[in-house]
Amino acid sequence: QKRVWLFRDGDKSMRDLLGGKGANLAEMTNIGLPVPPGFTITTEVCTDYYAEGRKLPAGLLEEMKAALADVEKQLGKTFGDVKNPLLLSVRSGAKFSMPGMMDTVLNLGLNDAIVEEYVKVADPRFVYDSYRRFIMMLSDVAFSDKFDHITKHDFEHKFYDLKARLGVKEDLEVPAESLKELCAEYQAHVLKQTGSPFPQDPIAQLTAAVEAVFRSWNNERAFIYRRKEKIDDSIGTAVNVQAMVFGNQGDDCGTGVAFTRNASTGENVIFGEYLMNAQGEDVVAGVRTPMPISELQKANPEIYKQFEDTCAILEKHYKDMQDIEFTIEHGKFFILQCRSGKRTGPAAVKIAVDHVKEGLITKEEAIARVEPNLLTQCLLPVIPANAKYKVIAKGLPAGPGAATGIAVFSSDKAAELGKGGAGQRVILVRADTNPDDLKGMLAAQGVLTERGGMTSHAALVARGFGIPTVAGCSEIAVSETSFIVHATGQVIKEGDFISLNGAAGEVIEGQVPVEEAKMTGDFGEFLGWADEFRGKFGVRANSDTPADTELAIKLGAEGIGLCRTEHMFFEGERRPVVQRMILAKNDAERQKALDDLLVFQREDFKGIFEALGGRPATIRLIDPPLHEFLPHAGEVAAELRELLNRGATGATVAEKATLLAAIESMHEINPMMGLRGVRLSIYMPQIVEMQTRAILEGAAAVIKAGGQAVPEIMIPLVGHVNELKFVKDRLEATAQKVVAEQGVEIPYQFGTMIEVPRGALTADEIAVEASFFSFGTNDLTQMTFGFSRDDSDKFLRPYVEHKILPGDPFESIDQTGVGELMKIAIAKGRSVRPDIKLGICGEHGGEPTSVQFCYKIGLNYVSCSPYRVPIARLAAAQAAL
Ligand code: ADP
Ligand code: MG
Ligand code: MG
Repeated sequence: QKRVWLFRDGDKSMRDLLGGKGANLAEMTNIGLPVPPGFTITTEVCTDYYAEGRKLPAGLLEEMKAALADVEKQLGKTFGDVKNPLLLSVRSGAKFSMPGMMDTVLNLGLNDAIVEEYVKVADPRFVYDSYRRFIMMLSDVAFSDKFDHITKHDFEHKFYDLKARLGVKEDLEVPAESLKELCAEYQAHVLKQTGSPFPQDPIAQLTAAVEAVFRSWNNERAFIYRRKEKIDDSIGTAVNVQAMVFGNQGDDCGTGVAFTRNASTGENVIFGEYLMNAQGEDVVAGVRTPMPISELQKANPEIYKQFEDTCAILEKHYKDMQDIEFTIEHGKFFILQCRSGKRTGPAAVKIAVDHVKEGLITKEEAIARVEPNLLTQCLLPVIPANAKYKVIAKGLPAGPGAATGIAVFSSDKAAELGKGGAGQRVILVRADTNPDDLKGMLAAQGVLTERGGMTSHAALVARGFGIPTVAGCSEIAVSETSFIVHATGQVIKEGDFISLNGAAGEVIEGQVPVEEAKMTGDFGEFLGWADEFRGKFGVRANSDTPADTELAIKLGAEGIGLCRTEHMFFEGERRPVVQRMILAKNDAERQKALDDLLVFQREDFKGIFEALGGRPATIRLIDPPLHEFLPHAGEVAAELRELLNRGATGATVAEKATLLAAIESMHEINPMMGLRGVRLSIYMPQIVEMQTRAILEGAAAVIKAGGQAVPEIMIPLVGHVNELKFVKDRLEATAQKVVAEQGVEIPYQFGTMIEVPRGALTADEIAVEASFFSFGTNDLTQMTFGFSRDDSDKFLRPYVEHKILPGDPFESIDQTGVGELMKIAIAKGRSVRPDIKLGICGEHGGEPTSVQFCYKIGLNYVSCSPYRVPIARLAAAQAAL
């Protein structure tokens, strides 16, 4: 097995073995770009290194020496030679780019003897500058995990002190003599800290650097980065050993980084920064302020031309926007790295569309290339790419987008000061949210909660309405009037400005500029292509209001996959009527309240059908336990006590006492498994009879006015066919009555949600009674795992950390378990009713890998929050390709 590959022997397909950097260095070498020669030690050696107890495998050194001899021959220089030394860079490079996470050593091969001769033939300042960099880098990389005070920081401190002694600010102002002294000081430091002199043997330096790069695979930041990016810990890094080119040899030298197109807007202009007379990380480290690449064009048009040509060649070759690193040595341009550049959502779309128009890629390739989740960034207000800001805490990125406003700590305050009120920009900050907070959330620019996960109420609503939200932010403690940041003790009070970056889960101090995003031409065109590819596979939206429905259709929804009727019960004037209905002492009283609600609901549905313009709407009958519509027992008890303390008597006291007794009597130990869903409809059938009537009367009104309405009435939480049959038979009777009264044809259907494992397992029985299934994967996941979805943010974190689960099953469908139940239900359902309509309406319906899974197992459509519709359209297209 070949363990060491010369650049000219590899190519870009060999990322597994050579790492991304090594594979691309090989590819660029072979297409004739100016890459300094070198070789790559494979990722397999990294695995062996760890398997052998952190030792380089036997025979590797001989292979490295053979490759080194080849490089020496190409350049006419010799590694370790005092007269004409070959110097090397030793660089990490895993299969997936992990920028800056692992280690690099530059100028390797220098020692005291070589430096002494080298200064006679080369610029002494350059020689000592290279040497001091090398001593620092090798020590930092190779010794700092065993010894204290040998990190880059310790050396930089000494450099800083030197500059202070000399009274200069810039690195470039330090003369050669002083750099020489610094090298000596560095070596003395190494001796003092490690007990051994800095290694002088070039081969010993090389093996130390190679080992160090392998060890850097498991340094803390690389480890954390892999967690975040879900990169496998076992794949290891390759090591690239490459001849140095020098950007620090004078004013006709330099180094820089660039993107072949603008990574934040996608504009077709080269975007980059560089520094003259500099090396390595000077550009990104911020010691000197780099110059925009456009300056290079003015200062040195000849080099700029080489640079521009290389960018063009790379884009043509890789057919994608590239992120490149380069160095200029005495007016000659060298390329040191290229990779597909990270980019924002709008940039990803624009670049993909432009590349199709330039004939570089096909529409299929364009569709395959864009990560669906990036599309959210195309829809929401964003922080401009160049903005600087201070993050004070991090939580879950529950609702993307950026928002700035003053912190408020109650929904009432938000409603009073925010949208619809005084019109200020407010951020609603809550320990957690409940349905009561809806008005506050809608009035706010953004929402921050201490508790709650990605499927918490706050997160659901936030995604539905496109409200930037950071949820489950356990780094803060929220009280009634302020919140405190645990780490720093910083206190944010009502009226203080804060900002949220929902896409990253960041809580930001003060104000940041926020830009409104638009549906651009490129975006529309791109999604049009996605629709061509996904064909008949549908995308619907979860929507409860006409306004949301209009928005969803604008974003491409082909109907409503889930209308949660109870959301309508929470709104303003309906709340007291709903409470009256729940607390009714007898059927007659209850019916009266329901008659009042009917008026509201009929209008709701009429509005939704109008907005749908003939597209279908799956409307779910009441689902949550009734206590959710009532105040908390504790609150009412407190009010009652207060009344009694004030010596109140009579009707008000009696009324409160009755209310409290009623609430207490409805108390359930485990309400999510209690009186809700179809069970509630069996226990108290009047509510769903009213809802069925409201739906069909709303539909009839639209049809009579010349429109179309396609209601699909959905009964939730069914586990046994007889539950469904019991409720459906009654509602069918109501439906027929309404149709007869109205005297119009209404194409209604009854179906059910599959969200209880028993329902999935007996789907053949259930399909006899249901003309459609919609998978409620939030509940189905909750009940399949036995995980409470409202509390899971607490206990699932370690699950993901320790790889007990590959990810949060509420975020992406658990394909092996929950997915298996879905497959069973699909097969059984179709066996009885071949044309049964199958969809999904859980939050998973807008999550790309789950959408692809749904496509694969044969659902007819997915349904998701309006703002996720474009994501689902793209994910479905990718599944279809
Ligand atoms: P990272 O993964 O952190 O980007 P690299 O291996 O790309 O690490 O190295 C960091 C920097 O070191 C490069 O951007 C480049 O400026 C410099 N460098 C690496 N190899 C060489 C080389 N052969 N000649 C000159 N500079 C180099
Ligand atoms: Mg790099
Ligand atoms: Mg449910």
